[in-house]
Amino acid sequence: MKLTILLIALVAMAAAKSAPGRMAARYHNFRIYQLTIETNWQMEELKKIHEHISVHFLNELGAPGHKYNVIVGPLFHRVFEKTMNLLEIVHKVIVEDLQKLIDDSSVGDDSKMEWETYHTLDTIYDWVDQECAAHDFLECKVIGKSFEGRDIKSVKLSKREGNKAIFLEGNIHAMEWISSATVTFLLNQLINSEDPEMQRLSEEYDWIVVPMVNPDGFVYTHEVERLWRKNRRPNGHRNETGDCFGIDMNRNFDYHWGGAGWNIDEPCDHWFGGAEPNTEIEIVSLQNFVSSFEDGYIRSYMAYHAYGQYVLLPYGHSNTEFPPNYEQMKRIAAAFSDAAADVYGSAFTYGASGLLNYVVSGAAKDWAYGVKNIPFTCTVELRDKGTFGFFLPSNQITEVGLEVTAGLKALVNKAQEEGIFD
Ligand SMILES: [Zn+2]
Repeated sequence: MKLTILLIALVAMAAAKSAPGRMAARYHNFRIYQLTIETNWQMEELKKIHEHISVHFLNELGAPGHKYNVIVGPLFHRVFEKTMNLLEIVHKVIVEDLQKLIDDSSVGDDSKMEWETYHTLDTIYDWVDQECAAHDFLECKVIGKSFEGRDIKSVKLSKREGNKAIFLEGNIHAMEWISSATVTFLLNQLINSEDPEMQRLSEEYDWIVVPMVNPDGFVYTHEVERLWRKNRRPNGHRNETGDCFGIDMNRNFDYHWGGAGWNIDEPCDHWFGGAEPNTEIEIVSLQNFVSSFEDGYIRSYMAYHAYGQYVLLPYGHSNTEFPPNYEQMKRIAAAFSDAAADVYGSAFTYGASGLLNYVVSGAAKDWAYGVKNIPFTCTVELRDKGTFGFFLPSNQITEVGLEVTAGLKALVNKAQEEGIFD
């Protein structure tokens, strides 16, 4: 009897979520629970929970010993809590109403680009085009088209012959809006800041910026599903809700691809890395663009993500093997971390991603380091540490921009001192 009621509720929920038209999904009274997973058994049981309860995991289920956030709809709060108690999983509600968080981190006045609110793709791209038209030290081009045919735009800033370059990558994960907001904030500082130190950095280094690697997913998060992570290509698999879309593009780069931590069996998950590497047009375009520059020109590659406040270094595919200059990279990451914390106290933890997170391959930073031989690469996980998570309020965008600007200045100066640009 209980199971029947549960199934009816599940069907009703699925029907509500697949209503026709491009109306954004709503999350009134959906809670976010934070779970502390201590054992492998708890992890294995948690992975099976979707067979009984409709949940949305906000973090990839990796190793025990970590906290994981999960969204649970109002119909399932009681059965979810009972299940957690049965599994002896420590859990607490960290958000009572997800829709309120989404509303507080939505697009405000979108009439022109600034960093007080989040913006749509059109406004971000209009701003890129305007800056390109206004400054002859910017070279702007479309590096490729997304699966649905949207432009992937790039900006190269170069004021001096013979500079080495720093590459900034934004919004490969659709729902991480703070990523493109921060990358465009940094680009705006490099172009327009009157701070002498920023002016020096834009003089002495070339900067190559791709603010939006995943335009299809980004538009989808604005129009349909705020929680979307992957791109939007139908991936050839189906589950009980229909066709499965998208690849986690930061699992699609070809360096020690596959292996430990690989969720190849779950093609409908938010973290599916593809049937093989380099399957996604967006990733191939990005790789070709990086490879179009002469070897040794790009000396640093930084991919901006949310959330957790980390500077994640190579490698992702192992927690026992480390890059040849790992100690050097840690010193450079430490400079970022110290300087960023000085601004508003945000602490960034740094180290190999395989150690700090969990072992998983296919990320841009590992490809940039391992295949392209770029000597300092990282994934920067921006604010926060889980209070707002992917739904960082609009009124924190400028603060994030300022702390990352401070971190970046220190990082570049330390990398210079360490000989990264020699
Ligand atoms: Zn991400």
